[in-house]
Amino acid sequence: ERAARAAAPVGPGLLSDGTHIPLLANLGNADGAAKAAALGAEGVGLFRTEFLFLDATSAPSVGAQQVEYERMLREFAGKKVVVRALDAGADKPLAFLNDADEENPALGMRGLRSLRAAEGILRDQLTALANADAATDADLWVMAPMVATVEETRYFVDLAHSLGLKTAGIMVEIPAVALLADRVLACADFASIGTNDLTQYTLAADRMLGSVASYQDPWHPAVLRLVGATGAAGAALGKPIGVCGEAAADPLLAVVLVGLGATSLSMSASALADVRSSLAGYSLEQARQLAAIALAADGAASARAATAAAASTF
Ligand code: PEP
Ligand code: MG
Repeated sequence: ERAARAAAPVGPGLLSDGTHIPLLANLGNADGAAKAAALGAEGVGLFRTEFLFLDATSAPSVGAQQVEYERMLREFAGKKVVVRALDAGADKPLAFLNDADEENPALGMRGLRSLRAAEGILRDQLTALANADAATDADLWVMAPMVATVEETRYFVDLAHSLGLKTAGIMVEIPAVALLADRVLACADFASIGTNDLTQYTLAADRMLGSVASYQDPWHPAVLRLVGATGAAGAALGKPIGVCGEAAADPLLAVVLVGLGATSLSMSASALADVRSSLAGYSLEQARQLAAIALAADGAASARAATAAAASTF
């Protein structure tokens, strides 16, 4: 019985064969950091910085940002913390970054696109992060949201490195970069897959629109193939591949993501215990077998059902 094989409620993410899959927390501010650490988060896999500034009418100063970043980094001394550059636009507009009146904001000026158009804001944020990094003991990684091209990857990673940040990568949220993962990872230190947007863009279904909500299912084998392509490129190049979308919080899908090559998983802290228990029930080889079963399905529902059926026989 899977529950009987479950790991202790708080501890590292471990497969049954001892493979370590760090389980990290998604945070939107420093307030949740202590609770996440208490629930066993081994670090932070996604710090959504835009949530700090939703009410700001002007761009936050380097100093004001540094205070917030230091507050959060202090909770994770010695641990990995992945901070995302402002992902403004679409569902999370920021007054000081987004002024366009767009008909399709999910396909418009958001994420790295807006930051690049207002490069001073990006530089200030990366400078604040570099200062906070120097003042604290966490292992700080930075990443860009909504990256579509190799050229954008190189731009962000080079800028972050030039400002003193050691580890810089991108989010894989657009199918184009998943399909070019080998090229993208050649110029990035890591990637983190955002399955929420990756699903939205793969199925061409607005994640904010209730009438198309049924498409927003990361079990869809088309999404899983893109995850697999990214995982394979990461393995070939020796680059870490995280998953930080909602998919990582689904205990069985988490196993499939590991089978597809995810090397860490990040989720809301409340999901950590169930995912930890689930991972403990499978070896890496079994996770790969389940991934192959999910990939071979022709839709999200059949992928989920076939994987659950196979998992129950292990
Ligand atoms: C994602 O798209 O999966 C993601 C983690 O980013 P957000 O949900 O903030 O867009
Ligand atoms: Mg996203």
